[in-house]
Amino acid sequence: MEDIKGNLAAVRANIPEDVLLVAVTKTHTPQEINIAIDEGVTDIGENKVQEILDKYDHVKPVRWHLIGHLQTNKVKYIIDKVCLIHSVDSLKLAKEIDKRAAQHDLTMDILIQVNAAEEESKFGITTDETEGLIHEILDTCEHVRIKGLMCIAPMVDDPEDARPFFREVKEQYDKFGAIEHERLDFQYLSMGMSHDYQAAIKEGANLVRVGSAIFGTRVY
Ligand SMILES: *Cc1c(COP(=O)(O)O)cnc(C)c1O
Repeated sequence: MEDIKGNLAAVRANIPEDVLLVAVTKTHTPQEINIAIDEGVTDIGENKVQEILDKYDHVKPVRWHLIGHLQTNKVKYIIDKVCLIHSVDSLKLAKEIDKRAAQHDLTMDILIQVNAAEEESKFGITTDETEGLIHEILDTCEHVRIKGLMCIAPMVDDPEDARPFFREVKEQYDKFGAIEHERLDFQYLSMGMSHDYQAAIKEGANLVRVGSAIFGTRVY
């Protein structure tokens, strides 16, 4: 049995008070998640809609974050369950979120998922595309509020090597955060996972998404 309490204390010791810890709970049971909540975890992250639905009624009150790729046809299932969607990378997805949020008479907080300029990844968008997308969302999605940026760093053996990537995303965060609009209110720079959250914090992350360092290795 994993020492969730001990792991959590060790992770917390590395995180300044003004950095939000989102405990990533994918593949883990409501019982395990509730141990973390009893230890004071306020925010949890899941990357699959189905896992949120399966666990939602069995987990103590907590703020849920959708951190993984989100298909447009699944937005309707989680629109009233999550506090922040980290993975918005297209206008199509933002528009669906807007539509469902309007139906529930709420405004959904989102992050734009970005890549470093040179990174060819399946999800997330490049620096050049980011600015255009932000303006399109602000122009068309009245029930969406843009709260910041999210990224997943390239996998490197030494997390120190990810720092230039994090630095670049922080520069984008500062640049786009200066846009003046009533539905743009940058508060979260979501970057850093179990192996690289300390490097991410050094480069300005104020929200880290940590799973295996708290709950142990995932078994799929
Ligand atoms: C799984 C996951 C994490 C956490 O990964 P760990 O290496 O277990 O800390 C963070 N962000 C996203 C988007 C994930 O899917």
